[in-house]
Formats: sequence, structure tokens, C-alpha cells
Amino acid sequence: MSAPRLQGREGEYVRECLETNWVSSAGPFVDRFEREFCAYLGARYAVATASGTAALHLALLAAGIQPGDEVLVPALSFIAPANAVRYVGAWPVFIDAEPEFWQMDPALVWDFLRRDCSRRRGRLINQATGRRVRAILPVHLLGHPADMDPLREAARKFELVLIEDAAESLGARYKGRLVGTLSEAACFSFNGNKVITTGGGGMMVTNNEELSRRARYLSTQAKDDPAEYIHHEVGYNYRLTNLQAALGCAQMEKLAEHLAAKRRLAENYRAGLADVPGLAGMPEAPWAKSTSWLYTLRVDEEAFGLGRRELQRRLAGAGIQTRPLWQPLHLSPAHQGAWSRGCPVAEKVWAEALSLPSSVGLSPRDQAYVMESLRAARG
Ligand SMILES: *Cc1c(COP(=O)(O)O)cnc(C)c1O
Repeated sequence: MSAPRLQGREGEYVRECLETNWVSSAGPFVDRFEREFCAYLGARYAVATASGTAALHLALLAAGIQPGDEVLVPALSFIAPANAVRYVGAWPVFIDAEPEFWQMDPALVWDFLRRDCSRRRGRLINQATGRRVRAILPVHLLGHPADMDPLREAARKFELVLIEDAAESLGARYKGRLVGTLSEAACFSFNGNKVITTGGGGMMVTNNEELSRRARYLSTQAKDDPAEYIHHEVGYNYRLTNLQAALGCAQMEKLAEHLAAKRRLAENYRAGLADVPGLAGMPEAPWAKSTSWLYTLRVDEEAFGLGRRELQRRLAGAGIQTRPLWQPLHLSPAHQGAWSRGCPVAEKVWAEALSLPSSVGLSPRDQAYVMESLRAARG
């Protein structure tokens, strides 16, 4: 679906780790990866982490989200941000997607904050649960940015922390600005299927010095005295290793190439499937530059002649891996205790969506075969 491509200086940099014996959670590549990541985004601080999920957990901890608080999370997303909210003892409130670009719907965020919440002793309370609302955590889904301006405005007006989950969208732009620079803190993932990979890994970025200091501290077992091993708090072992950061530095050198390849794939799919009835490619907002991390179709069963499940089965028969989106989180048995008003758009997109092979290294021939097989699947 989205396989890693490791054809740059990965081997050379990893060998350097082996030769210098710097393989663990400190070393020059960790510092360099953080520095180069900051430079790319134009952010002040970056903390490299063992995973994207760990970065989300640290961001929520460092932002002071407390047990029993609530955090607004899109219903249509990979489960990691909702899980991270639970790790700090807080609860997600699931917000539906907007139908055009499938991102967290800012109108529904405003609606929730205005109509479902009230101020009590200076705190914003969800009237349905009695819990305090503290943060908004939009996800830039599938490489496409969420509509950040109205979310930023809501965070400002209601005094909420805004944290971006940019795990799928490194390099995507919102009104010309890179995602990951539009909030208090942003999180990235370098899992094997992301735009660049370190095998496993993540990054939290922020312009807030105190927040970055706190995240770094918590990521290293909250060590207060490195000589005597004195800890005043329970911390975590969330640091990225030098070996992984070596991969990250080599991958950063290829980021522009990877992004160009993903956009080319998306353009080919768009052009090549435009005339197939019942298939709609993922749209790009006029204010967005998507990275098309996973190129995703909506399959209209009536017009296409097959639903997405049957299409997926037939493509698998032709040796082509595709995948649906994630079960919307308001339906997830893992998050039954979370509140939502219902998310019909997320359910509809989920019912119809199918992601196509989107590897940076997918050859034009293989992509043509995918498109031929899509046409042939109609029978
Ligand atoms: C990949 C991903 C993450 C983090 O994943 P890790 O595997 O922990 O690095 C977080 N959020 C979203 C939306 C993701 O797609």
C-alpha cells in the first residue's frame, strides 16, 4: 500500500552508528534529525520519539491535559490519537467529518462548543458528560490538511489547546503553510508506511520552549539528576534511537522526491480513472496542497456496479492490495466510553472508501495495472 523506499544514504549512516558504537537513544543522528526536521518545518523545537503515538501522548501530557478532561478528536481517523487521549486518562469527544474533504468538520466543532458546552467557574463543561473540555486534536487525514483557521479561532475563543496530528501529512500545506506549524504542538510518525520512515518513530514539534522541555523530560523517564538518578515524576522511555535517527536523516534527504512521487501517483490515478462511473477520487481543497499519502477512492455501489468490499476482494484476486479506511471511532468498541453526537458523514465515507496502492516506488506499469484491474473488476 505504502511501502518504504530506502535507496539513499541509509546504509552509510547506519554503518556510521555501528562503527562509532552510537546505537542507542543518544547520539549525533538524533540531534541532527531533530535539527533538520525543525529547519524543514520552520519550527523552533522538535523532540524525536519512539513512535508517532508516543509523540501524541507526550504532547497531551506536556500540554497539561488531565484525567477526566475531554479532547475533540475526528471520528474518521486511525485510532492512535484517541488512544493517546485515553493514556492521559482523558476522554475523546468524536466530531464528524465534513463531506467534501473528509476532515474534522470545524462547523461541528463550533456547534459543539457553543451548544453542547457551558462555562462553569471559568471552565468549559460538556453538558452531556459533565467533563471539562480542554483541547482540539485535528488529524490531517490521508495527506490532506484539516481546515485549520476556524479550528484555531475556536481554540482561541474557547481557550483550548490545539494539537495537530500530522502523522499522515508531512509536507502537506494549508494556505501555503506546512502542516505541523499551525498549532501549539504537532505530531509526526515515521512508521514504515508513512512518507518517510525510521522503521518506527515519531516527532513532536512546537514553538513553545516550555512545552518542548517538558516533553523531552517526560520522554527520558523524567530524570532530574542524571548522575544520581533522582526522579520527581513518573516518566516514559519514549526516545528514538540513534540507529533509527540515522535512517531518518537519510530519509529527510529524499523527502522532496517522495512527495513529488506521491503527487504524481495521485495525478495519474485522477486522470486515469476520471471517466469510470461511480468512482470519485479524493478531492483537494483550493486552500490545500495534499501529499496524497494514500490515494483513496469513494466507490458508489450503484453507479460503479460493486461496493468497495467486493471491489477490494476482486482486486485482491488480481494480486493488488487495497484497504478500507478505519472503523469510525465513535463506533469503536475500544472507545465506548467516549461521547459523540453521531457521525453520519464518517460512516458514509467509511462505507465507500478504498485506498489504492500508493508506494513511492510504485512503477508506472504497476499503477497502470491497478487501473486496468479496477476497470475490469466492473465486469
Ligand atoms: C500513523 C499514525 C499515527 C502514529 O502512528 P505510530 O505507528 O505510533 O508512529 C498517529 N496518527 C495517525 C492519524 C496515523 O496515521
